Amino acid sequence: APILIWLRRDLRLADHPLLSEAVMTGAPLIPVFLHDEVVEEQGAAPRFRLGRSVESLARDLDAIGSKLVLRRGRALDSLRALAAETGARAVWWSRAYDPEARARDAETMEGLDAEGIETRDFTGHLLFEPESVETKTGGYYKVYTPYMKSLRGRDPGAPLPASARLPAPDRWPPSESLDDWDMGRDMNRGGAVVAQYLTVGEAAARARLDRFVAERIEDYGLARDRPDIDGTSGLSENLTYGEIGIRTCYRAALAAREAGAEGAETFLKELIWREFAYHLLHHTPRLITRNWRAEWDRFPWSEDGHSPEATAWKRGRTGMRFVDAAMRELYATGRMHNRARMIVGSYLTKHLMTHWKIGHDWFADCLIDWDPANNALGWQWIAGSGPDAAPYFRVYNPESQLAKFDPDGAYVRAWIAEGQSAPPRTALDFLAAAPRHWGLSAEMAYPAPIVGAAEGRDRALAAYRARDT
Ligand code: FAD
Repeated sequence: APILIWLRRDLRLADHPLLSEAVMTGAPLIPVFLHDEVVEEQGAAPRFRLGRSVESLARDLDAIGSKLVLRRGRALDSLRALAAETGARAVWWSRAYDPEARARDAETMEGLDAEGIETRDFTGHLLFEPESVETKTGGYYKVYTPYMKSLRGRDPGAPLPASARLPAPDRWPPSESLDDWDMGRDMNRGGAVVAQYLTVGEAAARARLDRFVAERIEDYGLARDRPDIDGTSGLSENLTYGEIGIRTCYRAALAAREAGAEGAETFLKELIWREFAYHLLHHTPRLITRNWRAEWDRFPWSEDGHSPEATAWKRGRTGMRFVDAAMRELYATGRMHNRARMIVGSYLTKHLMTHWKIGHDWFADCLIDWDPANNALGWQWIAGSGPDAAPYFRVYNPESQLAKFDPDGAYVRAWIAEGQSAPPRTALDFLAAAPRHWGLSAEMAYPAPIVGAAEGRDRALAAYRARDT
């Protein structure tokens, strides 16, 4: 009987424990992608980008004599139906770690078990399973540095090669059409603009890693902090959909370190931040929904996502150039530089006294590299409410940060059209992507800061001191 291979955030063929094992069984394999209850809930940009990934994987599967069968609806219902249609008695998938996907998987497992259909979940999304990393007293890690040190010397294993062919069933079950799903339907910012900035699929992800290791990893330690420089790998967009395996990235960086590349050590540490985010999310799913530290429930954050402050922040019109450049980069490209993510996060939660959840949800709607664990950890870290967070009183000054990390003003010029006689394409792309009702144009005056750097800092610190009194 065939095995149903339910692919989710593992949209690749190499470095794929599930596929390797499935091929070894010799059984016919039916790869499936489901537009299920979890996909349904995703933000506009992640779902749009996911659609592109599915399209690419379907092509790659075709090329090795297989197919990707698409179905829409509740996961359990789709899998039940597919099992009945194909005679499959087993459904395999790679494990997920965020609470929504875990709830779906638990329900699916129970429902299929009840019908005697075998289910199995596999590793592959992480270097190490979250419960396999423990403190000396048997608990989970809440602080990054000891977590990172505990992984030193542990070998995640070599990535598995891609299978040359996947055994096909005699007859394929019918598939829905990706075009009919219209996964970019909520991209009112114009999917066409964002699409120009994407790097989609397994081959492109692999090429990106190779280029990064050959050309940029050496200087990564310093270059990674500069939003005006293309100094990072860009791999988040591929890692989040599993277009490339984490072991593949980790091994490549280990090899670069062996070869003496200076920045490789820093890069490995960043990959471990991703690992740490999943470790924490696994042990404390509230990382996504609530202040990890309950004392923050008393902080007077605004929870109004439509306040004038939150609105100006989302639209890149706060009058703080670093913040606005970054928010525009996000809207037009679906990405934002890591340093910029920290600056806009600090400005929102401190200067604008707005809850990190507002920023978290906006990112989840706009990022093509949206990742449930990394996004939640990033926001709780910058807000100060998370485990091992930046202390709240360390308020980033968006003006001095700009002078330091965008010394020639190139990042700001790239994204802010106002005041430039011939704005570059990037800045115009943002204006093209912005909905008309935002009322933006290159000719308008650039706004004065809605909350000044010093004023906002004082107000945030006063509220912080008042929190516990
Ligand atoms: P590189 O610098 O090339 O790093 C390589 C990889 O390491 C990344 O692809 C990523 O998988 C991992 N990594 C790097 N930095 C971090 C980090 N700080 N935390 C966790 N993993 C990291 N990352 C996402 O992938 N998705 C998100 O939704 C996301 N939201 C964030 C929100 C906030 C408020 C902050 C402060 C950070 C967020 N990050 C998120 C982390 C980080 O900004 C991005 O991973 C990074 O900018 C991606 O670019 P890159 O692939 O070129 O990274």
